[in-house]
Order: sequence, then structure tokens, then C-alpha cells
Amino acid sequence: MTFTMDFLGAAGGVTGSRTLVKFDGYSVLVDCGLFQGPKEIRQKNWEQMLPPATNVNAVVLTHAHLDHSGYLPRFFRQGWRGPIYCSEGTAALLPVMLRDAAYLEAEFAHYANKTGYSNHKPALPLFTEDDVEMVLQHIVPQKRSVWIQLAPDVSVRFESAGHIIGASSLQFALVHKNGSRILTFSGDLGHDRSLTMRPPEPITETDALVLESTYGDRLHPRNHVVREFSAIAKRTFERKGVLVIPAFAVGRAQEILYIIRKSEDDGLIPKVPVILDSPMSSFATKVFFDHPEDHHEGCPFSVKDGQDCYLPAGFQTVTTSDESMLACMTEGPMVVISAAGMLNGGRILHHLKARLPHPENTILFCGFQAEGTKGRTLQERPNGLDKLRIHHKEISIEAEIATMESLSAHGDWQDICGWVKRMTKPPSQVIINHGDPLAMEAMAQHVKELLPKATVTPMLAPGRMTLF
Ligand SMILES: [Zn+2]
Repeated sequence: MTFTMDFLGAAGGVTGSRTLVKFDGYSVLVDCGLFQGPKEIRQKNWEQMLPPATNVNAVVLTHAHLDHSGYLPRFFRQGWRGPIYCSEGTAALLPVMLRDAAYLEAEFAHYANKTGYSNHKPALPLFTEDDVEMVLQHIVPQKRSVWIQLAPDVSVRFESAGHIIGASSLQFALVHKNGSRILTFSGDLGHDRSLTMRPPEPITETDALVLESTYGDRLHPRNHVVREFSAIAKRTFERKGVLVIPAFAVGRAQEILYIIRKSEDDGLIPKVPVILDSPMSSFATKVFFDHPEDHHEGCPFSVKDGQDCYLPAGFQTVTTSDESMLACMTEGPMVVISAAGMLNGGRILHHLKARLPHPENTILFCGFQAEGTKGRTLQERPNGLDKLRIHHKEISIEAEIATMESLSAHGDWQDICGWVKRMTKPPSQVIINHGDPLAMEAMAQHVKELLPKATVTPMLAPGRMTLF
């Protein structure tokens, strides 16, 4: 008896996580993510994910980020119905993330029809709010670390992956005629240096492992994050500048707010207005407080009354677009946190248009910038790039551009290897996914050194793997 896995996305790239696992007579889609980034990659969202007759009994999600969950409404639009298993934290985040995605789809189609900026006439959204509501009716939240039976011979459990609230490593237990087998998906893994998130839960045993490799070829500096952040913030405030932080609404924004608060409490920076311009971030911050099971032990907000120790003194949220525009015109010193984290849309673009042309300001990156995104372009500024194209206008780049890699929600290759090393029964088969090709190859090499007896395969392109 063999089991197969079809890697439909996050193979040779970091987005579009979708893996169809076929056990004997039972199929599970692990993650159902959107392809994100440049147009030629996003175009894949319009392709049929699976041949129409493919049987999929259930979807199991590692976490709520859209590159892992955002294709669900499209999948439902194509007629699929079935249970979506995920952790309680993921179930709490999905409504706001998917509704926001549907809103952006509608906006994009409207804009494309108004300006003629589309090959499709008329331009249509990938999915609608109705599709999202249908998805939400099928979510089945699960407690951590409990085996849930999906079929007579297939069970799954969710262990904390430490990446964002709800993020999980998945373990599938399969009853096999020659004994049982365990298949583990690492999911996006965090690390043990986060001030807010619990480190990834160690997995003791697995027979096969699907391992992420976002930072398979890089090490994060082990800097003291509060000191590093406050040095960048302080020099910006001394210039009376605005510190603009593009942040993933879910995860990074919550960590940054706490770092600002810590910097204030330690007397490292003055108390200035801190504007969170992302309605989704504000909601995610509420969910964050509601799920102490995923918080770092000992952080003050892991108890109910600890929220007062968490937010910066000058914290303000912005909801309407008028308030957002006003924030673009307000003079520094101040901090603006806004999404999208990789600059692929959202309100952050208005803040960049206002702040990039002035040398007193700083744009601070603190999350992974995928290849081909505006974020990566601004971060690396190839060939001394001095202008960035935003909303069809060339904006000159005069502001300071800074990066804090130590703030990433992903572990680096040493963190990932450290997590694998703690297994008492390590896998004999490892498949590397969720990375750019160079990161995948490097991660495969690191795992080979760590587990010389294991078969290690980087999934550089979509394809099928056979297990056991
Ligand atoms: Zn993620």
C-alpha cells in the first residue's frame, strides 16, 4: 500500500500552498492557498486546481495566512463542499482574512473595469463574499494536540508551530497493514526569539516530513530586537520623520506593537503617536488577546488583564479611508503600521507615496519579502533604483530603507534544523516545500547533513511524491 502527495503549489515558490494527500480511499487537501506576488504567478489562481472528478474528502489548514487559506472561496465556487479542519486560533482569524480578500477582489475587478486594466472583459473577481460565507459554514475548529479521526484509518492533530496565532504543524496518523505511520507537515514554523509567540512545539516522531524552507538559505541575526528597533526608531524621530512599517496584518503587527511598548518602557524611545492603519490588524489584535494558548509564556498579555502592558502609549487605530489619508499628511515624529506587508496592495501604498520622497522618514521591513514583489524591489533596490512605481506614478526614494530580519515570523534554517533535531524518531523521508528554489536546495542540504540516512527531496516544481 502506498500513499501519494500531489504538490500543487508552494513548490519552487512560497505561495499557493496546496498539497493533496491520498491515503487509501481518503483524500485530504493540506492547505488551500492563493498564489501571490507578480501577475504571472497570481494568474495561476484562475487555473483549475484539480481535475473536476478529483475526490477531496476534507481540507486541513496549517494556518490562516492567505497563501495557505485564500483559495478556499474559489474552491467552493467551483462546487466543492466538505469539512475544513483547523485550530481554534485559525478558525478565529479566517472570517476577517477571507472577507477582506473578497472585498479586495471586488475592488480590483471594479478598478479593472473602470480603467480597462484587464484582459478579461468584464473583469471578474476570483470569488465573492457569498463564497466566503459558504466557506465559513464548513469550518470545524479543533483543540491542540488531540487526535481527531478523519476516516477509520486516518487521524490528524494540530501542534503549535509558533508562527502566528493558530499556526500549526499537522501530524497525520495512518493505519497501515504493516503497522501505523506518521506523516508530518511542519507548516510555517516560528522560532524561540519571538516576544509574543510561543516557540514551535517539538514533534517527537514521524516517518515522513514535509518541511518548509522560507529561510532555508539564510540566518537571522540574533540581535536584541528591542535595541535594534529602538535605534532605527530613535534616529527617525530625531529627524522628526515618520517610521513606516509595512506589516502582515496578522502576526507581525502584533509583535511590533509590543516591541514599541517595550522600547518606550525601557526609555529607549520617546512616546510618539503610533498609528495602526489596517482594520484587519485591529481585529487580529483582538483575536491575539483571545488566544493565550499560543502566546509566549510569561508575556504580560497571556493573562486577561495584561493588555494594558501591551500597547504603546500613543496607540491609535485608523478605520476609515479619510482617517488613513489624514495620517498620510500628519507630520512626524510618529509610527505608521499598515498592510500589505509585501507592498502588494492595500493602504500601505498611500503611506509610501507620502513618505518615500522625504529623507527624514524611514521605511522599515520586518517580514519576508517574496521574489518579484514591490517589497523585495524596495528592500534590495537593484541597480541603485531611485524611484518606485506606485499607482502608475514614479515615486522618488529619498527615505531611509531599513530591514530587521530578526523580527521575521519564520525561523531560519538553524531554527528549522533545531526543531527537526529534537525528534526522537526522525523521518526517513523528507520533502522540502515552501521556499524559493535556492532556499529549498540549501535547506535540503542542511537536512541531509542532519539526517544522513533520510531521503531528502526539494519540490522545485509541482509534482507527485509517493510515501512509505
Ligand atoms: Zn504564514
